[in-house]
Amino acid sequence: MDKVVIDNKTFVPYITSDEIQERIKEVAQDIKRDCAGKNPLFIGVLNGAFIFAADLFRQFDFDAEITFIRFKSYCGTESTGNVKQLLGLETNIEGRTIVIIEDIVDTGYTAVQLINELKQYNPAEIKFATLLRKPDSAKVEVKVDYCCFNIPSKFILGYGLDLDEKARNLQDIYILENS
Ligand code: IMP
Ligand code: MG
Repeated sequence: MDKVVIDNKTFVPYITSDEIQERIKEVAQDIKRDCAGKNPLFIGVLNGAFIFAADLFRQFDFDAEITFIRFKSYCGTESTGNVKQLLGLETNIEGRTIVIIEDIVDTGYTAVQLINELKQYNPAEIKFATLLRKPDSAKVEVKVDYCCFNIPSKFILGYGLDLDEKARNLQDIYILENS
């Protein structure tokens, strides 16, 4: 793997695709232990989680379904801060076991808001799976049930994660050099 330059910023290799696949297999075993036999509904969060969701979902050999949502940012008033709107949930999740599939938990605001929105539809339980988490950036507590990698609070991209929509197609995960 070589360095990549995106928008004049240099990124260095950080997690290889082989390491990602190995870790996904391990996390899938934990999910299987908790969710097999419950016909869980996996909800992938677009765009960042689309590749992770595809790789994770293919690990399962029990009955399971997958759908995708988008969590769109828009600027609220100063008092409400940065509010996000849930788009695309067309499946009835009442009484279901839900496993949210996210790309990364940074401050945790997105995850908390997403979990709270989904709770309003009365699922039986909500589990939260993320590819990456930056524990040192946490601003709010998030119940993360499954996490592939804890990483430092530095900007990363590749394997679905972007810099201004670029670099999602990189097979490996890269980290900003000298940050
Ligand atoms: P949070 O609400 O601060 O937890 O932010 C989560 C969102 O920020 C993720 O879904 C990503 O879209 C974005 N994000 C946070 N850190 C990174 C990063 O290092 N690379 C790419 N996107 C990131
Ligand atoms: Mg995301």
